[in-house]
Amino acid sequence: MRTDILVIGAGAAGLACARRLHDEGLAVVVHEARPRLGGRIHSHHPADGGPPLELGAQVVHGDRNPAHALVGAARMRALPRDVTARIVQDGVEQGMSALARGRRAPWLVEAQLHAAPGPSGLSVAGWLGGRGLSGAESGAAAEWFRQNWAVDPDLLSAPGVAAAQRGDLAGSGEFTIDGGLGTLPALLAEGLDVRLGSPVRRLDHGPGRVTAHTDEGRVTAVAAVVTVPPPVVVSGALSLTDLPAAKRAAAAGLPLGDACCAVVTLDRPAPASAVTLDLDGRTGFLRATEGRPEVLVVAKAGAAASVRAALRDPEELSGLLRVAVPWTAGARIVEVTAADWGADPLSGGGFTAPLVGAEGAARTWAEPVADTLFFAGEATWCGSGLPWMQSALASGVTAAEQALKAVRR
Ligand SMILES: Cc1cc2nc3c(=O)[nH]c(=O)nc-3n(C[C@H](O)[C@H](O)[C@H](O)COP(=O)(O)OP(=O)(O)OC[C@H]3O[C@@H](n4cnc5c(N)ncnc54)[C@H](O)[C@@H]3O)c2cc1C
Repeated sequence: MRTDILVIGAGAAGLACARRLHDEGLAVVVHEARPRLGGRIHSHHPADGGPPLELGAQVVHGDRNPAHALVGAARMRALPRDVTARIVQDGVEQGMSALARGRRAPWLVEAQLHAAPGPSGLSVAGWLGGRGLSGAESGAAAEWFRQNWAVDPDLLSAPGVAAAQRGDLAGSGEFTIDGGLGTLPALLAEGLDVRLGSPVRRLDHGPGRVTAHTDEGRVTAVAAVVTVPPPVVVSGALSLTDLPAAKRAAAAGLPLGDACCAVVTLDRPAPASAVTLDLDGRTGFLRATEGRPEVLVVAKAGAAASVRAALRDPEELSGLLRVAVPWTAGARIVEVTAADWGADPLSGGGFTAPLVGAEGAARTWAEPVADTLFFAGEATWCGSGLPWMQSALASGVTAAEQALKAVRR
C-alpha cells in the first residue's frame, strides 16, 4: 500500500496533522510508540465508573481553543470558576485568599511580568528579584511559576513567558470534555491508520523519500512529520539520520520541565471538593472531588521529584497528602496510578518552557528539512504560545500545510 506521509507520534500534534492530511486525500500512516493514543493527554478512568481524572493535560484552556471545534460544543463542559482553592504554606493548609491578604498574590505578580517582562536574557528569578517583594510574596510567586511552567524561575525567561502569553489566542475560561480529555485524540484518530505500539527507531531521509525503521520492518513515504518531544531525539530513542547540526542544537535547547502526576485512591471519600496549591514545593497542585476517594496530584519542577520519591514509599506519600489535604490523615491508600512524565523516555518531561539562552530554539526546531522532514509538537511553539494542547494542535495543522505544499509541488 502506498504511503504519502508518515506521521511519528499520536499525540495532539500528530493526530491533528494526520487528520488534516487524511481529509485532503493523502495516504497517511501514524506510528505511535505507546499502546494508546494521546501522548501527554492521558485520562484515568476509575474502576467504579467514576468521573475520569487527568494524568497529563488537565483542562482545555480558553473558549477559542481549537479543541472546541474538533470535539464539538456538545461534548465541552466549562469548569466552575467558584471551586474552593486552598494553599499550603510553611506546612499549614489554608484558604487561597490568604495569598491576597496584605500582600501581592502570585497571579498579580505574574500579570505584572506579562506587562513589563524586562530585557532579553532576564530570568523570571532575576525579574522577581527586582520587584521589591517580601520573602513570602517572592516564595509564593516562585512556586507559582514552577507549577505553571515546570521549571525553576532562574532558568525561565521572563520575556519568553510574556511572549508566550501574548501569542496565545485560545481565549479565556477552562473546559473539560465529556469522557475525559482522552476523547479528543480518540475523535481525531477516527478513520486514520494509526499503528499503536510501533515506535520508529530511526528515520532516514533523502530528496522526496523517507524510510522509517520500525520493529516490524521498514516503511517508506514521500515525507514525514516528526511530532515527538525534542528530548526523544536528543536521547536517540528516535534517531534522525543526517539531521542538521542547528536542528540538533535546537532540540537540546528545548528540554521538557519535570512533571509527575498520580491518582491516589483512598479508603474514604473526600468531604468536599477543593484544589490545593502547595507553595512549600512538595506536591504541586492537588485536586479532590466531594464524595470521591481519589486525590489527583499534579506536581512539576522540584515538587515532581518529591512526589516521585514518595511514590516509592506509601508512608511518605500518606505524609505528603496529610499536610496538603488534611482530610486524608489516617486514610489507607488503596491504589496509586502514576504518570511520571519526567522519567518517561517517550516524552522526557511535562512540557517545554522558554528558557534563558534558548531564544530561537523553537523556531529552528520547527523548520522543515529539505521539504521532506516536517516538525510539529508543542515544543515547536515554545515561547510564541503557551505549552498546551492548543499549541500542539496548531503546530500539527501548520506542519500538515507545509507537507501538503511539498508533496503537491
Ligand atoms: C502534567 C501535565 C499537565 C498539563 N496540563 C495541561 C493543561 O491543563 N492544558 C493543556 O492544554 N495542556 C496541558 N499539558 C500539556 C499538553 O499535554 C501538551 O502540550 C500536549 O499534549 C502535547 O502534545 P504533542 O502532540 O505535542 O506531544 P505528545 O503528546 O508528547 O505526543 C508525542 C507522541 O509521540 C510518541 N512518540 C515518542 N517517541 C516515539 C517514537 N520513537 N516513535 C513513535 N512515537 C513516538 C509519544 O508516545 C507521544 O504519543 C500538560 C502536560 C502535562 C505533562
